[in-house]
Amino acid sequence: MAALWAARTNPSRRVALLDGARLLGAKILVSGGGRCNVTHHHVDETAFAGSTPAAIRKVLRRFDVAQTVAFFRELGVELKREDTGKLFPITDRARTVLDALVGAARAAGVQLRHPWRVTTAEREGDGFRLVSRAGETLRAPRVLLASGGMSLPKTGSDGGGYALARALGHSLTPRIFPGLVPLRVADGHFVRALSGVAVPAVLELRSARGRKRMAMTGSLLCTHFGVSGPVALDMSRYLLDARHDDPQAQLVVRWLPAHTSETLEGALRALGAATVGGYLQERMPERLARALCAHAGVDPATPGHRLTRDARRALALAVAEMPLPVTGDRGFGFAEVTAGGVPLRELHLDTLRSRACPGLSLCGEICDVDGRIGGFNFQWAWASGYVAGTGAWRDAS
Ligand SMILES: Cc1cc2nc3c(=O)[nH]c(=O)nc-3n(C[C@H](O)[C@H](O)[C@H](O)COP(=O)(O)OP(=O)(O)OC[C@H]3O[C@@H](n4cnc5c(N)ncnc54)[C@H](O)[C@@H]3O)c2cc1C
Repeated sequence: MAALWAARTNPSRRVALLDGARLLGAKILVSGGGRCNVTHHHVDETAFAGSTPAAIRKVLRRFDVAQTVAFFRELGVELKREDTGKLFPITDRARTVLDALVGAARAAGVQLRHPWRVTTAEREGDGFRLVSRAGETLRAPRVLLASGGMSLPKTGSDGGGYALARALGHSLTPRIFPGLVPLRVADGHFVRALSGVAVPAVLELRSARGRKRMAMTGSLLCTHFGVSGPVALDMSRYLLDARHDDPQAQLVVRWLPAHTSETLEGALRALGAATVGGYLQERMPERLARALCAHAGVDPATPGHRLTRDARRALALAVAEMPLPVTGDRGFGFAEVTAGGVPLRELHLDTLRSRACPGLSLCGEICDVDGRIGGFNFQWAWASGYVAGTGAWRDAS
């Protein structure tokens, strides 16, 4: 995106796209389950974390969702919106998106060179000298660094770009950690035996002292190692971030989003002769209902009016306020994004040119910006790539 717009903006200059990967755009190909969730119908800064919302907003507004849709249409890629608000190519094939981008870059005159892994980037006179792993050298007056983060390193974005950014005068956030990453839950916990069960749930992030920090609603997927699904992925970076300062910060699951433990106690009290298992099974998968009863030490066949006060309380807490003993995350190999990176305050936001190094621009996931699941991270990549590409030739402001 950045190379394409750099070439379109100034056709008299030569633009070379260097990529260390043997397979170009591997991350696009694996994205969205192979369908590439190109963007979301509504994108604003509230869906992102990292640098300040005002800075993120400034970049996003320069190339919004309507422009993304029009841009891909111009490239021959029609997008369709699904019920979730996510936009995918009508072909349902990520390859369509990648081929269109590569084709458009070539048509704009971009020279694609890969595998060309940049191992050194240094200032030389007014420009830069880049050296590849194979020992080739390339000199350029301008450099756009779009080397991504560290998630799914086998696709080529293995964090090597951070060293290049540092060598050229940038700093990094004190922590760089996985985002949109599945979470591990303690051995023996019942969610691990419910692999494949997915339910709408609320996840709350609470401090060690039990203070509610934030809540998110969405589909929660139980897996053999713990939890995944959109709501767990979205929450992961906030939990990992919170645990840095508060190692006992925890997640609490509300398996019935409509209920608090108090309202659920009321509902159980009103059951009469109906069984608690029956009540739960009408509202969630049977396996989960049984597991929650077992977790609370309650026989699902118990009629509501036979529940002791303690049992009712225990079941209400298990269903509506269950602490989830998260032991960690699955790491960058399973993360869809990287939290942290180069702070946006080190860039001129109108061009994404570096304040630290004249002639350098940065865009995409290498920046300290990470979005929710749903097409937001690509929207950041398109928008920031556009701003960096079109701004590359302008003199530093
Ligand atoms: C499994 C998975 C699924 C995803 N699905 C979606 C989705 O559906 N929707 C969405 O919005 N987001 C999705 N994302 C996130 C999205 O793919 C990224 O946020 C986005 O690709 C970031 O774009 P980027 O260009 O900044 O970095 P990347 O796409 O990571 O590209 C960086 C490129 O730089 C190259 N590179 C790195 N270092 C060097 C070097 N030293 N020399 C030369 N080249 C180098 C790499 O080879 C790579 O090709 C997904 C991520 C993953 C891991």
